[in-house]
Amino acid sequence: MSDGTVAPAALVARASRRGVGSLALTDHDDTGGLAEAAEAAREHGIRFINGVEISVTWQGETIHVVGLGIDPADAALQAGLAATRSGRIERAQRMSAVFDSLGIEGTFEGATRLAGNPRMISRTHYARYLCDQGHVKSTKDAFRRWLGSGRPCNVAQEWARLDDAVHWINGSGGVAVIAHPGRYALDRPQMRALLSEFRDLGGAAIEVVTGSHQPQHFSLFAKYAVEFGFAASCGSDFHSPGESRDLGGLPPIPAICEPVWQRLPAD
Ligand code: AMP
Ligand code: MN
Repeated sequence: MSDGTVAPAALVARASRRGVGSLALTDHDDTGGLAEAAEAAREHGIRFINGVEISVTWQGETIHVVGLGIDPADAALQAGLAATRSGRIERAQRMSAVFDSLGIEGTFEGATRLAGNPRMISRTHYARYLCDQGHVKSTKDAFRRWLGSGRPCNVAQEWARLDDAVHWINGSGGVAVIAHPGRYALDRPQMRALLSEFRDLGGAAIEVVTGSHQPQHFSLFAKYAVEFGFAASCGSDFHSPGESRDLGGLPPIPAICEPVWQRLPAD
């Protein structure tokens, strides 16, 4: 429902083929795919976990906070997600103005066409459009040149506040998880400040093993998890075949960690 290319039921079928036994669907700022995925998971005999990945601005940095075991019917959560989504179209227009100024035209229409859900237009749709048009060889290149952190078309955007995101997740019965901590441009003192503030707010876990971590991050964040008393999560960060690591392809979380799925109520 956000920036993946595989529909929820097809995603669950793919996970099943690849030997996945438990799966959370975690669209950015949107829960519209959960009912379809849950139904497919029942058919395939997979344990399904309702999820979402909330875009947060913390000290000027974009941080993603995953909610696992959330209740998508919770009104405060839905109001929060709607508010978080609401700036995306205007942000896309500002991104396209920068592309225009660089002589790369048609990006707003192109990216909107690729976003099945225009309210969820994201940098990923821009990356795919630039790739389709031959401006770059891969979506990764598009992030490296234009869309990634510190690059010209990654315009400033104020997402949700960290305390709000944690409260929406916890308030709906979920567990809050810092997504891919190894991806943020934070030095050690800043990372420690983020983790301790997150814990004080009621955050319960961090992603240790994820498709968007380098292998050296697995042991580093396993140690942080133990030190801060966080459970550990594992996420493919799968978006599209060929674009990201596939479902069910990650190593297990390190043995020193407590798996986050043990903290979630059984269905
Ligand atoms: P947005 O919410 O519009 O800022 O877009 C976030 C999406 O961009 C996420 O799905 C990420 O997977 C993707 N993304 C962010 N940085 C990179 C990167 N350096 N390389 C590839 N994808 C990225
Ligand atoms: Mn994404």
